Amino acid sequence: MSRSADIPPDLAALGERVSAARAAVEARGETFYQGASRVHLGAFPPRERWDDWVELSSRAWPAREEHHYLLVPTTCFNCESACGLLAYVDRDTRQVRKFEGNPEHPGSRGRNCAKGPATINQVTDPDRVLYPMRRAGRRGEGQWERISWDEALDAIAARLRAALQEGRNNEIMVHLGRPGEDGYTERVLASWGVDGHNSHTNVCSSGGRTGFQFWMGIDRPSPDYAHAKVIYLISAHLETGHYFNPHAQRITQARENGAKVIVLDTRLSNTATHADYWLSPQPGSEAAMNLAIASYLIRTGRYDAGFVRRWWNWEQYLAQCRPDLPATFEAFQAVLAELYAEFTFEYAAAESGIDAAVLAEVAEVVAGAGTRFACHSWRSAAAGNLGGWQVSRTLFLISALLGAVATEGGTFPNAWNKFVPRPIHTPPHPAVWQDLSWPEEFPLAQNELSFLLPHFLKDGRGRLDTYFTRVYNPVWTNPDGLSWMEVLTDTEKIGCHVALTPTWNESAYFADYVLPMGHGSERHDTHSYEQYDGQWIGFRQPVLRAARERLGEDITDTRQVNPGEVWEENEWWTELSWRIDPDGSMGIRQYHESRAHPGEKLTVDEYYGWMFENSVPGLPERAAAEGLTPLAWMRRYGAFEITAGQGGLHETEVAAGQLRDVAVGPAGQVYTAAPAPASTNVVPMGAPGPDSRGRRLAGVMVDGVVRRGFPTPSGRLEFWSATLADWGWPEHALPGYIRSHVHPAELAPDQLVLLSTFRLPTQIHTRSANSKWLDELSHTNPVWIHPSDARRLGVRRTGDLIRVETDIGYFVAKAWITEGIRPGVVACSHHMGRWKLAGHSHVSPGGMMATVDLRRGTDGWAMHATDRVRPYQSADPDTARIWWSDTGVHQNLTFPVHPDPISGMHCWHQAVRVRPAAPGDAHGDIAVDTEKAREVYRQWMTRTRPAGHVSPDGTRRPRWLMRPLKPTAAAFALPGGRAAGEPGS
Ligand code: SF4
Repeated sequence: MSRSADIPPDLAALGERVSAARAAVEARGETFYQGASRVHLGAFPPRERWDDWVELSSRAWPAREEHHYLLVPTTCFNCESACGLLAYVDRDTRQVRKFEGNPEHPGSRGRNCAKGPATINQVTDPDRVLYPMRRAGRRGEGQWERISWDEALDAIAARLRAALQEGRNNEIMVHLGRPGEDGYTERVLASWGVDGHNSHTNVCSSGGRTGFQFWMGIDRPSPDYAHAKVIYLISAHLETGHYFNPHAQRITQARENGAKVIVLDTRLSNTATHADYWLSPQPGSEAAMNLAIASYLIRTGRYDAGFVRRWWNWEQYLAQCRPDLPATFEAFQAVLAELYAEFTFEYAAAESGIDAAVLAEVAEVVAGAGTRFACHSWRSAAAGNLGGWQVSRTLFLISALLGAVATEGGTFPNAWNKFVPRPIHTPPHPAVWQDLSWPEEFPLAQNELSFLLPHFLKDGRGRLDTYFTRVYNPVWTNPDGLSWMEVLTDTEKIGCHVALTPTWNESAYFADYVLPMGHGSERHDTHSYEQYDGQWIGFRQPVLRAARERLGEDITDTRQVNPGEVWEENEWWTELSWRIDPDGSMGIRQYHESRAHPGEKLTVDEYYGWMFENSVPGLPERAAAEGLTPLAWMRRYGAFEITAGQGGLHETEVAAGQLRDVAVGPAGQVYTAAPAPASTNVVPMGAPGPDSRGRRLAGVMVDGVVRRGFPTPSGRLEFWSATLADWGWPEHALPGYIRSHVHPAELAPDQLVLLSTFRLPTQIHTRSANSKWLDELSHTNPVWIHPSDARRLGVRRTGDLIRVETDIGYFVAKAWITEGIRPGVVACSHHMGRWKLAGHSHVSPGGMMATVDLRRGTDGWAMHATDRVRPYQSADPDTARIWWSDTGVHQNLTFPVHPDPISGMHCWHQAVRVRPAAPGDAHGDIAVDTEKAREVYRQWMTRTRPAGHVSPDGTRRPRWLMRPLKPTAAAFALPGGRAAGEPGS
């Protein structure tokens, strides 16, 4: 990356002035303090000066008091972007003074959002968990005792060992919030023989992923925003969306170059304020709008017919669905026009409330983008609505029509722009199937049905002996949190709850063990994310460990440098695995042993050293050029760019040497008996299975040439999905429109739609309650309501208390009357309403947690704040300066579960009634009837089509779909050898 080429002329001139100033100062024999830059105040410390970076103390000014820093890279853990951070480690105190951006990181390029530098708040948080704790009273009672790591490890290892030896593998589960790493936890679980990986993804992004998965066999888009002509966003990407900072800076770059930005968001987000077109649709109508644009491209012939002919599976569609027609592309083009003829601008206008003329204008802008059309849809509409996955499927239809797939300025499959290195040990995947996460009712679910766990446990489908929550707070994050609380306090359903967390949270209150884990500057991880057309790998590391090693110390355990007894997960998992299998007889220990020193524990240095040496192309050579080992290079610079300008990998010709005993499938798939070439990249994607003779899929025949293609069953982009058709959903096998559960036709006359999914750019989901800078910026979540609705409902002014009634209860919030929301829709950010239970004296007040009384009566649960946030004395003088008391309301508690029957996504939007608060209501009050939550759960389960009824081959799930752990083929079989349609399902 060349920075000098990017320096605008005015800054170059400033650089010249700085150089002149330097010469003048040095001519006087004085020290010149260069500041943070070679050329101007906005750049970064040059990397050759990271060993001794000097800054003057702002507090001592005008005295020139020097601070000398070691600058140590790590990556931010406060969202998924994994932006580069530089820790400023004071050479005298050997403590971190601040975090700023790492200019050597190819994704974030030195920039961060507010949450990156706020890492220092988390590190110095006086309320953080510093020592292992064990509950002393009843679970949830708030009585804790400090224990040693040995006590915790021995007790937990004994439970796990017993469960594994007794064949109760499915009673072990690790539930992840923010993963922040690529595959370490899965590897540990595989080594135990446990299918216990659970994620938060079905309350987050699985709706968005599903639509892309059925097209590409890869579940994420990677837009090349920087080079786009038109950017089309169904979410708030400039502000908070997926890969917030790395994407936002590239969208900004494109806008500077004249790109048009189109934003579909019912709410006037900060992103919408920067758009050329802000479309505020009726929630759930986004797919209809996409289809209207697609229909326009088709009927006007403004699509890339050559791309469609070569890369869509249209031949398969005609063969399966229209055998009456000739198998010609011309016949398909005619059918395509017929299929989407009904989606006129007028139709979309009626669904969305957006004027047909505006839609027509937007469609013309899109048509003009050609192959420079970059798009993204992630949470937002795809996460809000029944059938929301069709929002991203119809969005990618536009890309696929324009041929804007893996083109400059287009949208790539994320696997083209991501690199996951092979680890030192790869245990086999488990031979068991976890029904609590992958239930039979959802054979096509993109991810684990995590948010249904309390209901499955209440149904008696299983129990958990040991349940880990890892940087995860289901009571607060998930819908229906009080059902979670009920099962977490039931020791029959969950025998032991271990919370691996840096901070106290609403779920850790109901744990048996609370174990202190590190923040982004206190742990090792590797990761790689799609942020531009290139591949990079980032290295998170305990910065004080790296700093002290650079100064010559020998650090053997991260606890030697972390605050208190905070441990990193990787060392902890290794230690736990050894204690489960101390003599290696269970076959677990082998995956946690050193290769260099057999019989000894694998260290993090060996784990990452091996990985960087053996499976990151180009890194060993780059490191050697500087006289460093690959590990030392990554510890010094934090991120490495493997490739840039990947281009369309699907077009890559398969080498002749890889084609042996070839067979061509009906959709042009090419199978080969040649072994797969060795690859260092293990990026997760769909994996179409072998043919009947065991030959692997090598690629797809396109115009007589075997090309790499896409990892779908057909090898092409799947306009028509045989998987959806074969697994019980033929009516949704094409990109289409599913009316939402909050479609106007579904609402009672007095109901509105509540948008509950939007994020704030300055808060982290569950770990920012103790980030004081972020708390000061954002600490409340009023309900957005349009003036016309406010008038109609008797809400007189902003700040008035209102009751928002859901199907299972209500919450009391403040109103914010604004024209930034559609009439008929209200919106509330999900970031707020943090709480601690009265009597839990182990949790100090903090800047974001109200103290609440929570009790269950005859008609359900009631929560009421007994103490608001206020100033208090602590080791940090800033806690005495807290000026706010309002911390918002925990709306998610009042939401029942809404599992989409195909994607498995929780459909977040709620049909609600809004009225002025009743006498006695207080801000933040909650009422919930968990019996009603059970009824809603049962209603939504009736929408499903279980594998036992629809599976075409007697398996529980298509083998080619992604799954973090992929059990053995035998475990995929439906229980009892049932085939489709047999009773007992
Ligand atoms: S976008 Fe912000 S929170 Fe996310 S990784 Fe980057 S700096 Fe951290």
